[in-house]
Formats: sequence, C-alpha cells, structure tokens
Amino acid sequence: MALTSPRFVTSPRLRNAAAGAAIRKHARGRAVHLVQMALIDLGYAMPRSIGRPGYSPDGQFGDETQQRLQEFQDWANINPSGIIDRDTLMALDHFCPGSRHRVRLHFRSISLARVPFDRSLSDTQRVYGQYGIAMEFASGESLGLTEAEERALTRVDGECHWVINAGEYNRLHGMGTRAPSNEILVYYVRRFADPSLLGCGGHAVNRPACTVAARASRWDTAHEIGHVLLTSGFAPVHPGHQRNLMYAFSTTSTRMPVLTDRQVARIRRSPCCVAM
Ligand SMILES: [Zn+2]
Repeated sequence: MALTSPRFVTSPRLRNAAAGAAIRKHARGRAVHLVQMALIDLGYAMPRSIGRPGYSPDGQFGDETQQRLQEFQDWANINPSGIIDRDTLMALDHFCPGSRHRVRLHFRSISLARVPFDRSLSDTQRVYGQYGIAMEFASGESLGLTEAEERALTRVDGECHWVINAGEYNRLHGMGTRAPSNEILVYYVRRFADPSLLGCGGHAVNRPACTVAARASRWDTAHEIGHVLLTSGFAPVHPGHQRNLMYAFSTTSTRMPVLTDRQVARIRRSPCCVAM
C-alpha cells in the first residue's frame, strides 16, 4: 500500500520508508519534520523539537521524537519500535487522511509571470498540502485592460501596507470578477515601484487579496497567500528560519519550504481557511 495523504506524498524519503527503508533515530530533514507535525496534530506535544519560538519542528529525529512516536505506535496498536517504518507511516496516513481544510484562490493576471502559472499553483498546493490544507483553484482570468489602465498599472505604485484602501493596489484589486469575501484573489503584475519587491499581501478589509510581481520565484505566491491567511496580527511576520515559507527573502531553492505549528494553527483559524 502506498501513502495517500497530501501531507506525506511529496516526500520521496517518506515514500521510501513506506516501501521498507525505515527512518531511524538521528535522521534529519523534511521527512522527519512532516512526521513531527503529524504527531503534533494528533495531540503529541513536541516542545523540545520546536525549541526556539518561530521555528518549525526541527526535523531532527531525537529522543523526544522517538518517545512520541512510540506513544503513537502504542496507541495505534502497532509495534512500538520508535522508528518510522512502513506500519507507522500507514497508521499516520490513516489517521492524518486527506486535507481537512481548504482555501479557495482566484487568479487575476495583467502580466505573464517568469514562473509558469501551473508551477506557482502546484508549488502553492504542495506547500500547504503538507499540513492538510488544500489550495483550490477557484477561477482564473486575464484582465483585459484599457490602454490607460495598462500604462498606469505596468508598474504598480504605492507602498505595500497591510490595509490598502486607495491607490493603484486598490484600483487593481477592484478589477476583474469579484470573489466571495472569504476567498483570496491573487493578482499577477509586471512590477512594483520598489524594484526589490516581489509581492505584497496587503488588501482592503473584507477583500482578501495579494499581488505578485512577474519576476517572483516559485514559492512567492505561497508566501503572499501566507500573509493574507496569517494577517498582521501574527508575529513574527517574517521568521528567522531560512527554510520557513515566510522567511523575509525570496528563494529559488528547490527545497520545499515549511511552516511552524503556530503558523499552521493560525492559518487554520483564518476566515479564508474552511474546515471540510
Ligand atoms: Zn513577506
């Protein structure tokens, strides 16, 4: 039997473990992180693995992970081996099934992005899928602009704030078919007045939206959606952990970004994140 949960299927290492190559104590990496997050979701606290606030479970297979794993194995009535083996993964896959939450996304573009749209969408879906949150494509539109609009919005002027009630961002977010107020609009534009800016999560109250520049990297759409879901009330806005999706600087790394358990808990409480 193969793994089915979107939490685990994106990890080649976990797929191998499910096929027999067990993961043992002292291993590290995203595969271990995903198992730690699954255990946390099932109610097994892992304070030592989280360590510093603002950090994700560390992906280090140490004593705490082994103990929690054994507790889970015991509870699930499988051999309490303390290793991530086939039976353990099958049990985790069973108890952490498909996505339990969903976010609906509406895409509006006035510019082609450097990263193909399908890639941005599937990367966004994979990042959140790791935590049982399904990112659904609700609609997509190319905005047909008039010449004057085209001239004005080739470069989006104005500062990126949490709440944007005026200016070019606001004008942009008023274009195209509206979306329900608990679904997120994602606008792709050519560039911003600040050339270093790759995206902005600011939007008007009750009109969740974010804006992404054409030269943004493959993970930036997921990052800006993260700002919309976490809102201004969540700190740190940009954690210091480079692997975190919300790290301040864009990355072109092929390594999939991760979230902290606090970020995941907050995202699930967003009005845009609906329990299924
Ligand atoms: Zn940011």
